[in-house]
Amino acid sequence: MKVLMIAPPGAGKGTQGRLIAGHFGVPHIATGDLLRDHVTRETELGLEIRQFLDRGELVPDEVVLEMVRGAFEQARGGGYVLDGIPRTMEQARALYDIAVELDMTSQVALHLQVADAELVRRLLTRAAEQDRSDDTEEVIQRRLELYYEVTHPILDWYGERGILVSVDAMRPADAVGRQILTTLTVMQQMTDADPDVTRRPIDLTGLGAAFGAEASEDVR
Ligand code: AMP
Repeated sequence: MKVLMIAPPGAGKGTQGRLIAGHFGVPHIATGDLLRDHVTRETELGLEIRQFLDRGELVPDEVVLEMVRGAFEQARGGGYVLDGIPRTMEQARALYDIAVELDMTSQVALHLQVADAELVRRLLTRAAEQDRSDDTEEVIQRRLELYYEVTHPILDWYGERGILVSVDAMRPADAVGRQILTTLTVMQQMTDADPDVTRRPIDLTGLGAAFGAEASEDVR
């Protein structure tokens, strides 16, 4: 399975990304984790990019694209779950070029939809549990702002390409995960049989009740 995820900070990309990767036995390529690892190890790159992460700003495209190219080369011939990239239209196009070159274009662009108030609540909870330098209230606002300005608009492009799947991620993580795995399993069977068969956007945001909870209406 070749999946990329687009979601605002706090929507559950990390949790769902690990779940999907474990289920399908593919690598979970999370740009935020790769970048934070450099910062923790105080590598030369880590020292350069630290200020971007601390302020909630995007690190330069070439840094993340090079990381993903390396991870793609290692995963070549198999699947992947991309978490945290693309963040901009430029990254989406560059990523697509790399994927075409390596014959690894995504089958699904998974969009996790969560209302802003819930995102802020989750991020502040995470701030209390983990020691992430970018989970302060001010930086959270900046990351959300950036998401709506430059990341959210990419969804239309995936919609046009016919690989967009949107899920309501306001519900508990296990209910969201069940819905995602069920959907991806069906899509994998369909795309294995005919790669073009699912080339239309799929909106599951109203189907929450079928997966263990009431669907939410309060989604931006
Ligand atoms: P995340 O763990 O995905 O929330 O990412 C944490 C931080 O890493 C972001 O706020 C950015 O500073 C940086 N980052 C992660 N992915 C990217 C990307 N694709 N492009 C630029 N910066 C990124």
